[in-house]
Amino acid sequence: MKPRVGVLALQGGFAAHADILQRLGACVDEIRCVEQLAAVDALVLPGGESTTVSMLLERSGLLEPLRERLSSGLPVLGTCAGMILLASEVVDGRGDQHSLGLIDITVRRNAYGSQIASFEADIAVDDLDEPFHAVFIRAPSVERSGPEVEVQARHNHRPVLCRSGSVTVASFHPELSGDHRLHQRFLANL
Ligand code: GLN
Repeated sequence: MKPRVGVLALQGGFAAHADILQRLGACVDEIRCVEQLAAVDALVLPGGESTTVSMLLERSGLLEPLRERLSSGLPVLGTCAGMILLASEVVDGRGDQHSLGLIDITVRRNAYGSQIASFEADIAVDDLDEPFHAVFIRAPSVERSGPEVEVQARHNHRPVLCRSGSVTVASFHPELSGDHRLHQRFLANL
């Protein structure tokens, strides 16, 4: 049976995630309302602008149902803004920005500087033979990770790929470099 993966599609880079997951054989649902959430076996929270996504989650009524489904163990991959939304603590966020609080990390928004400071780097990822080409765009940095958080990759000593139970977060954009290994791994673990 094909896994059914939801990609939160309120704002940001959801299309590239959906495309990769489909190519890898998943059945993909773009999620924009509460009813769509019930059917999925896993979820991707894409990059974009976390403050905007937070506001749209509230307006669409998705915020609490999403928190509930994820708290009960729905596997989730959060990239960049998605990482910010899933973190337990956000530094340099907007005062009214919601956190889902599903992984015990402190992230600093836009820590690597402005758009101009976006960069790419080859990073070593646990259990991958070859380095992963990571694209960072106004990326958050992980300033602290709790004892239950497994750090799977670092860049300049800072965690950039972390996992805790059913929650995986990346401060970079694995959907943008043409390398599908992290999506493959996400699907393989469902
Ligand atoms: N800086 C953005 C935020 O705060 C995240 C950027 C991204 O997702 N590429 O949400």
